[in-house]
Amino acid sequence: MEADSTTAEQEYECDSSTGHRENILLNELSRNYGYFRQIVLPMLRNGNEKDLLEWMREFNLIQPSVKCAKSLPDCRMVITASKVVDKYQWQCKTCNQKVQIRENSFFKNVYCPLQTIFKIILAWCQDMDYEHLSNVFGLKKQVVCGIYDKIERAVYGRPLYQLGGFGIVLLVDLYPDFVDELYPVSSKNDSAIKTQHKILCLADTNEIPTRYWLHVINGSFSFPSENNNTTFKKMNMCDETLHVIEKFALPGGLCAIGGGVHLTSLRENLRSSSMFEGVITMNHLTTHSNVDMQTFMINRIWNPIIRLCEAAQDLPKNKIQSYLSCALWRWQMESSDPFLSLVHLISQQDYKIPTNNKNSSKPR
Ligand SMILES: [Zn+2]
Repeated sequence: MEADSTTAEQEYECDSSTGHRENILLNELSRNYGYFRQIVLPMLRNGNEKDLLEWMREFNLIQPSVKCAKSLPDCRMVITASKVVDKYQWQCKTCNQKVQIRENSFFKNVYCPLQTIFKIILAWCQDMDYEHLSNVFGLKKQVVCGIYDKIERAVYGRPLYQLGGFGIVLLVDLYPDFVDELYPVSSKNDSAIKTQHKILCLADTNEIPTRYWLHVINGSFSFPSENNNTTFKKMNMCDETLHVIEKFALPGGLCAIGGGVHLTSLRENLRSSSMFEGVITMNHLTTHSNVDMQTFMINRIWNPIIRLCEAAQDLPKNKIQSYLSCALWRWQMESSDPFLSLVHLISQQDYKIPTNNKNSSKPR
């Protein structure tokens, strides 16, 4: 264990308010998370609440400033020590008006200490079982689930990258249909293939690790509408596939459509849309690739996706898209610092409850 992390560990274990099991879990979870271990963990100790709030303010995790509702000429809200759970709140120097520190933030209505929420965010990055977390932290399962749901809403439907682009081959195929195409009948494990939910799979072949987008076929597609709401339009599979490609892929490059997508109209529509420089079949692509490339496509590009799609089949339909999006997010973040990325993502969401005031700007 490196010297720096030992220091953080020892410091943290001196904190008598945390249980032994929690310390063991945190040491394990933070092992490869340098930023959390070095910067965040010390701020989670009792007595360091002010440092934590300043850091949260700097990261826009709480409001950097608050206006006093009374709006008298000398009104000025400042963070003040107080006998509340968070130890501090906003208080007006002039009229004493008070506002909780969590107002209009991710942390509002989460019924556990801020310190624990950050530990749960770290645990989410590693897909830790929420029941185990609720046991270790002594929280109700609903509280941990509620935090997980909030995180997943931030991650949901937001790929980090658009796929493809000039000079790149974008692969498009459909689970489970394409499993038949990839594997010869003799080596196929029929029992492993479940078919309840069809999932459209996009893969950008230019990146290592491969970048993907997965979309559960719904028979509809969501569009943003006014007031930050979403409207759903019913559509056939061809139109739905087309919309997913238009939303998540960059124009240019070559689009290779796999045998799992039994939609000749999709190829025609894509060709006539001129979105890509060329639209070909996956068969065409593989017959012009050498054996190594074919093996790479199956083992490295599609196998992880097949396993993920299979794992998603047992979930309720309304949970599958979120499950897939979060799994892809974790894959894409593996090479960076997922905790820090997630904190940034959380800070970019708009948590203001809509009022008559039209000023609630949306930061994206
Ligand atoms: Zn005031």
